[in-house]
Amino acid sequence: MGTLCQSAELMQDARRRGYAVPAYDTFNYETTRMVFNAAEAARTPVIIMYYADYYMPMQTFADMVKDLGRRSAVPFALHLDHSPDFDTCLQAIKTGFTSVMIDASKLPFEDNIKATREVVRAAHAMGIDVEGELGMVGREEAVNRGLFTQPEEAARFVEATGIDTLAVAIGNSHGVYIDEPELDIPLLQSIHEATDAPLVLHGTSMIPVDQLKEAVRHGITKTNIATEYLMEYANVMVNLCQDKPRTIMQLLHGAHQPVTDFIAAKMAILNPDQIAIF
Ligand SMILES: [Zn+2]
Repeated sequence: MGTLCQSAELMQDARRRGYAVPAYDTFNYETTRMVFNAAEAARTPVIIMYYADYYMPMQTFADMVKDLGRRSAVPFALHLDHSPDFDTCLQAIKTGFTSVMIDASKLPFEDNIKATREVVRAAHAMGIDVEGELGMVGREEAVNRGLFTQPEEAARFVEATGIDTLAVAIGNSHGVYIDEPELDIPLLQSIHEATDAPLVLHGTSMIPVDQLKEAVRHGITKTNIATEYLMEYANVMVNLCQDKPRTIMQLLHGAHQPVTDFIAAKMAILNPDQIAIF
C-alpha cells in the first residue's frame, strides 16, 4: 500500500542517496493515476502537486490524490505548487497537504524572507514542510542570468526563513523552452555546498537528459514537471483521432498506457545510478 509521507522526508533520502524525487502537477483523475502508475513502474517515490490556479477544489484534489496514492505501491507526498500568498498556503495546510510552496520570489530579498517566514511559522506549527524560492524561475522567456540564485544569498535565505527545501534558478524556465536550456551546473554545485536544504528544479520538462542527470548528481532532489507530459498526452490523443473519429472515453483509455510509459521513462532519468530506492 502506498504511504503518505512528508515531501522533505522523501527529499532528504534522495539527497543522501543521489536521486531526485519526481514531482508532477496533475489535473484530474486520469493524469494523477498515470503518474502513480508510472512511479510504480519506475519504482520511485513521487510528489503530486496541486497547481494553485487549477479549477478543481483543493479538498477534492487532496481526497483524490490520497485515495489513488494509498491504492498505489509507492511512498508519496501531496504538495501545493506556487502559492502566491499566505492564505492559499493555510488553506492547503488545513486541507491535509503535506507540504506547501510559497513563491515570493518576485519580491525583493528581505520581503521574500518575510513572506516566506510567515508561512514557515504557520506550517511548522502543523508539521507541514515549506518550499521557498530564491532567484526567479521565469516562464517561456529568455533566461536572465541576473535572476539566478546566488549561493551566499541561498544560505542566508534558508537560515532566515527556516524553509525545508529551496527552489533554485540556474538556467531553468517554466513552460516550453524557446532555446535549448543550459543549466549552470557549477552554480548549482556552489549552492549545494552553501546550504543543507534539499534543492528543487522547476521547469524540468525538456531539459536534455545529460544535463538533468548532472543536476541530480549535484544536488537537485525534486524536479517539477508538467508541460512535457501534458503535451505528450495531447499528441497521443490527436494521433488516436487520425484514422477514425473516437469518443473521449476511447481517447482516455487509449492514451493511458503510452503516456504512463512516457512518464516512467522520465522518472528513470532522475535515478541516474539506478539504485533500488525501496
Ligand atoms: Zn514552478
